Amino acid sequence: MIKNKTKQKGKSIEEVHERWLMKKLENLYGKRCPDYETGCGCCQAWSVYDSIIDENRGRL
Ligand SMILES: [Zn+2]
Repeated sequence: MIKNKTKQKGKSIEEVHERWLMKKLENLYGKRCPDYETGCGCCQAWSVYDSIIDENRGRL
């Protein structure tokens, strides 16, 4: 049986990318801080993530 890797039932490709990016950030910087702190690398990375998600939402 051949598995079709592109088959993602019930999931948009957008959502898959979001999850992938989220996992990446968690691995690199750890979980998002409860409050945003200026100068915190983790918070900055997550704010970049937010802006990427927002931009993609507007386009798709
Ligand atoms: Zn932080």
